[in-house]
Amino acid sequence: MDDRKKQRDRLVKQVSDEMEELHQRVGCLLSPRVAQALASVPRHEFVPAALQSAAYDDQALPIGWNQTISQPFIVGLMTERLEPQPQHRVLEIGTGSGYQAAVLSLLVQRVFSVEMIPALATAASQRLARLGFDNVEVRQGDGRQGWVEQAPFDGIIVTAAAAELPPALPAQLKIGGRLVAPLGRSPFAQDLCVFQKEAEGRMCRRSLLAVAFVPLV
Ligand code: SAH
Repeated sequence: MDDRKKQRDRLVKQVSDEMEELHQRVGCLLSPRVAQALASVPRHEFVPAALQSAAYDDQALPIGWNQTISQPFIVGLMTERLEPQPQHRVLEIGTGSGYQAAVLSLLVQRVFSVEMIPALATAASQRLARLGFDNVEVRQGDGRQGWVEQAPFDGIIVTAAAAELPPALPAQLKIGGRLVAPLGRSPFAQDLCVFQKEAEGRMCRRSLLAVAFVPLV
């Protein structure tokens, strides 16, 4: 087994332990399916060359343009709470490095991801194609509008923080679908929230824990 695979397996164990510790609060454990996906994606390919040695630490890292690749624990938790199924079509807002999209791509049928910053959108799209994550489509644009041509989605994951949920997003979610997003007014702390769309279209909300995401702009 190569070193990176070992580092990845260690990281997945760490994420799994952390979720077990916080089980009461976050309401789930790391499932074998999601663990397998985290263990398969080469996170070092998604961080700048100078930071590759830190790629398998459980921390967020800078990816340029004042943006970050999320902490693996948060990626694991958000992915788990999205409850991805093989037939799902999922929307991500905030492609960033493309790492979260790559993890999801191993768990669902198709991933649609929107990134505001053109250089990040291009780099992520090329990176995902080069690594063979070919069921991911990246588009440059304002994710607050969702991706109306591909709606409705089985799940939506927002990886940048907003004060409130942009209304276009619940509108593009199927009934019964789940939406995971960090919400809050402070730039330093938000609530990681899980929503489920009920039959009448109402969004049922549950807060999991305090997180700190870069802002949705
Ligand atoms: N999911 C990413 C991390 C996201 S960081 C990963 O796995 O690497 C948040 C990203 O959201 C940044 O790249 C930022 O440019 C993007 N973003 C912020 N506001 C946005 C908006 N309105 N629409 C689309 N992307 C946005």
